[in-house]
Amino acid sequence: MALLAELLARVVGGDESDPKRVHYECRRCGKTLSAQDGECPACESGEVVGIEL
Ligand SMILES: [Zn+2]
Repeated sequence: MALLAELLARVVGGDESDPKRVHYECRRCGKTLSAQDGECPACESGEVVGIEL
């Protein structure tokens, strides 16, 4: 079950190996977004910028 082990490792690693806090916002309208957002839900711009805090 190598695939399952790999999946678990990714989940655990993703939870605790992200010390940087990044603020995401839409470059066009300035709306605050989350890391999962590929585009802005307000103006549908794909220009999402990440700012390290
Ligand atoms: Zn926007």
